[in-house]
Amino acid sequence: MTALDAGLAPVRAAGVEVHGAHKSYGTNHVLAGVDLTAAPGSVTVVLGPSGSGKSTLLRVINHLEKLDRGYVSVGGEPIGVRRAGDRLKELPERAILVQRRRIGFVFQNFNLFPHLTALENVAAAPAATGDLSRPDAVALAEELLERVGLADKVAAYPRQLSGGQQQRVAIARALALRPGLILCDEPTSALDPELVGEVLSVIKDLAATGTTLVVVTHEIGFAREVADQVVFLDGGVVVEQGPPTQLLDHPAHARTREFLGKVL
Ligand code: ADP
Ligand code: MG
Repeated sequence: MTALDAGLAPVRAAGVEVHGAHKSYGTNHVLAGVDLTAAPGSVTVVLGPSGSGKSTLLRVINHLEKLDRGYVSVGGEPIGVRRAGDRLKELPERAILVQRRRIGFVFQNFNLFPHLTALENVAAAPAATGDLSRPDAVALAEELLERVGLADKVAAYPRQLSGGQQQRVAIARALALRPGLILCDEPTSALDPELVGEVLSVIKDLAATGTTLVVVTHEIGFAREVADQVVFLDGGVVVEQGPPTQLLDHPAHARTREFLGKVL
């Protein structure tokens, strides 16, 4: 198997467990005891009003933010956290970095490097980490851009691409490090409506490859079609979670019903 084959081989999906997660900013208790479990290879859609802590939750899972209390584990290993009740214990930064490399993050605003072509945006990370030689990183980037339907845009700079194309480059970039988990934070909310479908369709393809996905989105149709579970976050806690048909069609809580009444 060549390095490129290795780059394209299926990844080992990483499950996620968030337990008793607390996070405050000053007096703002944003996560007030969040529990969430996502099985390896599953798709979780996170819903919730603006300011309910959805982005904070993803940032905590990716260890961009530290918890005040509780723990997160990805792929069965606690990442960078303090276990509730224990004396505070944290993984060394180095271990956290290793863990974080297993996690892809897709941002609302794409966050591509503006001075790099689509190809370079995707090839940069696996080349820089030394996972792949430079020629293999370039070959992998070409494959991944083709997979997201952008074979003809390898040489384009972000400013020459539509928002939907930029987001697809960002997804290819997330895939280049072969993550076992991909977190997407409102991946289509910065897009013109006619571009939403192409990005959701790429994310749907990802789901089919078996990578664990946690997606914050208000695209209820996507949740219904692709999610294994839907989680409704409000007031710093998971108010309700379940299969899409249950949560979307028969929500048990008034707050969930009220929220869905606004977005549906
Ligand atoms: P959502 O993504 O659901 O809209 P966020 O997780 O972005 O919510 O934010 C939840 C709350 O935490 C908001 O009140 C926000 O202002 C606050 N918050 C988020 N990040 C920070 C930060 N780095 N510093 C201070 N407050 C923050
Ligand atoms: Mg957010």
